Amino acid sequence: MRPEILFPLFAPVTSLKGIGQRFGKLVERAAGPRLVDLLWAKPVGMIDRRFAPKLKDAPPGQIATLTVRVDQHLAPGNSRQPYRVRCSDETGHITLTFFHARGDWIEKILPLGQVRVISGKVETYGDQLQMSHPDHVAPEGEIELAVEPVYGLTAGLSLKMMRRAVLGAVAHAPALPEWQDPALLARRRWPQWLDAIEALHGPETLEDLAPERPARQRLAYDELLADQLALALVRAHAKRQPGRVIAGDGRLRERIVARLPFALTGSQRQAFEEIGADMAAPERMLRLLQGDVGSGKTVVALLALANAIETGAQGALMAPTEILARQHFATLERLAAPAGIRMALLTGRDKGKPRERVLEGLADGTIELAVGTHALFQDEVRFADLAVAVIDEQHRFGVEQRVQLASKGRGVDVLVMTATPIPRSLQMTSYGDLDASRLTEKPAGRQPIKTSVLPVERLDEVADAVARALDRGAKVYWVCPLIEENETIDLAAAEERHARLAERFGSRAGLLHGRMKPTERDRVMEDFAKGGTDLLVATTVIEVGVDVPAATVMVIEHAERFGLAQLHQLRGRIGRGTAASTCLLLYAPPLGETAKERLTIMRETEDGFLIAEADLRLRGAGEVLGTRQSGMPEFRLADLAYDQELLAIAHDEARLVLARDPDLASPRGKALRILLYLFERDAAVKYLRSG
Ligand code: ADP
Ligand code: MG
Repeated sequence: MRPEILFPLFAPVTSLKGIGQRFGKLVERAAGPRLVDLLWAKPVGMIDRRFAPKLKDAPPGQIATLTVRVDQHLAPGNSRQPYRVRCSDETGHITLTFFHARGDWIEKILPLGQVRVISGKVETYGDQLQMSHPDHVAPEGEIELAVEPVYGLTAGLSLKMMRRAVLGAVAHAPALPEWQDPALLARRRWPQWLDAIEALHGPETLEDLAPERPARQRLAYDELLADQLALALVRAHAKRQPGRVIAGDGRLRERIVARLPFALTGSQRQAFEEIGADMAAPERMLRLLQGDVGSGKTVVALLALANAIETGAQGALMAPTEILARQHFATLERLAAPAGIRMALLTGRDKGKPRERVLEGLADGTIELAVGTHALFQDEVRFADLAVAVIDEQHRFGVEQRVQLASKGRGVDVLVMTATPIPRSLQMTSYGDLDASRLTEKPAGRQPIKTSVLPVERLDEVADAVARALDRGAKVYWVCPLIEENETIDLAAAEERHARLAERFGSRAGLLHGRMKPTERDRVMEDFAKGGTDLLVATTVIEVGVDVPAATVMVIEHAERFGLAQLHQLRGRIGRGTAASTCLLLYAPPLGETAKERLTIMRETEDGFLIAEADLRLRGAGEVLGTRQSGMPEFRLADLAYDQELLAIAHDEARLVLARDPDLASPRGKALRILLYLFERDAAVKYLRSG
């Protein structure tokens, strides 16, 4: 339950004086429905109203505060015309215009013959000065015009109204007990929370808006600490769940490794050692296996699964899509079946008798390894004794789903695999509850991918190069981009490209897209992997996980429209065998600055972590992981592009705090609970043993 001291902050914005239903809606659209949302609305700029020129010096286009005499009221002839008020000082004239305004109200605020201070943006109309809808109108001496913060607005909401709402929220903000370490506050010269809030909304100079200002830093740190503390609580809770000791005798793993056509890399061996140690420990494993595309995560996962199966228990591997689940199944079957592991595939597509047989096998334990999609979560799916769950490409799943699968067994060890190279900083926020193993080496014998960037005018040359590659026996991907998040249009582009290429390459050219039925898609993929299709025109459905080692050429059209992470994922589909690979990035000029930088990075490096760091620099943190997909929290106050150092501190401090005070029962612990509620990490609070 939310602590009472926070009640005022979670009241609706309409509880503020002067904010009725109508403005409440607009404020809600701009910031959010509650006072606390207004507190988190960061000013985005400043207006300096101290600029008070004479009319002859008032520059059009700028905000100015003018002291003028009201000379004449000109009521409009019809409702489309503005109400005009002519004013002057000793150096010139200006006309104030008001659309849809009531005359009596204007006469009241701008009485004829009186002097008024007006502030707003100076414009010109013909050769005359004009100001429409001044932001402020007041008698001389009645208002003190200074600097004002500017907020993100929405249509129909004036800055004045927004500011009134924000100041109202600030006035309702209570002093809260200090949750930060006093030593940290002193060292960083950070203000108290309430002072920081007041400073955030009462900047005096443009510099006060900088993220490195003490008040801003303090608030960003509050938010990051709340986030890290919540993750640490989830983690501590999961670790407290009794786990089980899983240590197989190695017989299946030996058989598997003996049959591999390659030697495991040092990274793969080390990752498996870490995983094996976790599984053998009586606590639950919660581990992230992070490895760039093609680094060989699948084998490591299989060894973990085999380890559990050796003890007589079961393992499950879950993939985000049907294609991937099938592909994993095929790969694992090749490796695991000869070792004697009984396995089955379960996806949403399986129905009727075959599905029942799989469910039975899982329930009675005759199936030892299940590979599947979300279908593995369904209620009817029961395992005889699930001991380890591997979740592939986790950023497409949420944290809850991780928990859901784990609840299908007793003390299930969880291994999350991701190919998204996540910068360390982001890893802390999205996977802060997991230990991490990283595959840093590429399998031996891989050759670097040669990447070229070409304008689309050179399409014919590209087609010629593709023809030569096909003659040499290469398999080629040809990717058509997402143009406007509109599947129909995207599809049309891919279909048209396919038709053009089929004119030249005949039936060697295939087409793969997201609108196809899954069976159809499988057939196309199968044909590309083993059959007569050598050139596969595809939409981005091939982005994740697809593994055809013979594919050595990739053409990406409109590469300028893809994000770095996506380009990297796509390119990772080639360079998976021992033959040299080529990636051709086609762009439509003119290239914007960021797009140019992205393509340059792609040309210069294949290192997923460098690419991810660059990605974080070029766009916001939330985008790197795809905030909606990842379930990653969006930060309101912190900005991971600036606050990475703070995040690292928050990460360590959260763990330290819980080590000392696991139930947050000390006075500081109690204050930290308030912090969790303030940032709405309520769910984490329920993991505390005492309410
Ligand atoms: P990812 O990490 O992208 O999931 P995969 O597990 O799909 O990578 O492996 C990519 C390819 O590399 C597969 O064809 C796999 O058989 C191969 N592979 C895995 N480990 C090694 C290794 N140690 N040496 C050579 N090839 C390997
Ligand atoms: Mg994979």
